[in-house]
Amino acid sequence: LTKETFANIDQTDADLQAFVRLHEEEALAQARAIDAKGDFSNPLAGIPMALKDNIATNGLETTGASHILEGFKPVYDATVTTKLNEAGAVVVGKANMDEFAMGGSTETSYYKQTKNAWDYTKVPGGSSGGSAAAVAAGQVPYALGSDTGGSIRQPAAFNGLVGLKPTYGRVSRFGLFAMASSLDQIGPLTRTVKDNALVLNAIAGFDKRDSTSVELEVPDFTEKLGQSIKGMKIAVPEEYFQEGIDADVATQVKAAIAQLEALGAEIGQVSLPHTQYGVAAYYILMSSEASSNVQRYDGIRYGYRAPDAKSLEEVYKKTRTEGFGDEVKRRIMLGTYSLSAGAYDAFFKKAAQIRTLIIEDFNKVFEDYDLIVGPTTPTQAYGIGAEIDDPKTMYLGDVLTIPVNLAGLPGLSINAGFNGGMPIGLQMIGKPFDEATIYQAAYAFE
Ligand code: GLN
Repeated sequence: LTKETFANIDQTDADLQAFVRLHEEEALAQARAIDAKGDFSNPLAGIPMALKDNIATNGLETTGASHILEGFKPVYDATVTTKLNEAGAVVVGKANMDEFAMGGSTETSYYKQTKNAWDYTKVPGGSSGGSAAAVAAGQVPYALGSDTGGSIRQPAAFNGLVGLKPTYGRVSRFGLFAMASSLDQIGPLTRTVKDNALVLNAIAGFDKRDSTSVELEVPDFTEKLGQSIKGMKIAVPEEYFQEGIDADVATQVKAAIAQLEALGAEIGQVSLPHTQYGVAAYYILMSSEASSNVQRYDGIRYGYRAPDAKSLEEVYKKTRTEGFGDEVKRRIMLGTYSLSAGAYDAFFKKAAQIRTLIIEDFNKVFEDYDLIVGPTTPTQAYGIGAEIDDPKTMYLGDVLTIPVNLAGLPGLSINAGFNGGMPIGLQMIGKPFDEATIYQAAYAFE
């Protein structure tokens, strides 16, 4: 199976460009070891998969698709990597992504441009675009991504996949290159709901090396699959269908909601009044945290160092000037500015207050409902090059995914249907740590 997977990637990836790196030798060795052991009791045993390039693998180059980490080989495994190894998963390589997960189209990668699996002229979404394209094109049955403001769900929507951002704290972030530590979560991208639940089973759980991971019992996430959703209370926020949401997206998602109703769910209209402030608050909070997190890339400790620097000061300056792309630099500037003494009250503090209001919006709805549904993204996948020079438009594309990260909630995207041959995502948002109910509804809908 692993050999066949590499043969297939060899044929398809010259066009698709989903992988930044393959670990063929190591994967085949791993596959042979699993064969020799002969224990296939774990459903992931012997199954090839891809990791996003910001998830650490011991001894194997991991770069976050950044020039500044070129050649960097972590000296430890991320906790999810360890867990996958224990389950017998076969990591075939690293999937392309936006540089340090900053972006929504995989166009900020230093290395290559991944295509949308359905149309090679379109973006795969991002930042987990390589993970999504690899799964949607059938190169691997599943991949891990990370989601700080939609980076699992948006590429899932653009490629017709199931993508889950677990509740903040559900999956260990140890070994995930930190972007915005209060928002980041790792999660699975798959073609089916059941696959998704099986992968979450393998990677979820408390980890003493991530102080924000939560010490809660991990249920079997497949346990509610197949249960009826009759009587399930599902909320539809009016703000998720307002101005800026494409008519074709709205039509398809409304049809999906009608299908949930036909399956017995009770649908109600609600309001999440602070939705419109999410993007602004997120881009301040995320940039603040990200600007701090990327301070460690100084040319001394990891990866790339500018070859012709003559003093320590110059090592820092030249390495960072040459090693970071434009989008990363934009966020460093935005973040350090928001955190500066003169701007803190007007920007960071305000954004933090908005975050609280957004959390309260969700809490109120969840007093009466089991689930919230709406579109995952305002538009379908757009053309490569269409938005990359217009960061504000790109940022607004995150309006429906960002609030979920700000509130730490679990959110899933599943294909709602097609328009013009391209997929449209239906987003399902659950109560904290209630991924099982999301899976139950998604499985009934699928
Ligand atoms: N598009 C968002 C951003 O650029 C989301 C990124 C993410 O979730 N990693 O920040």
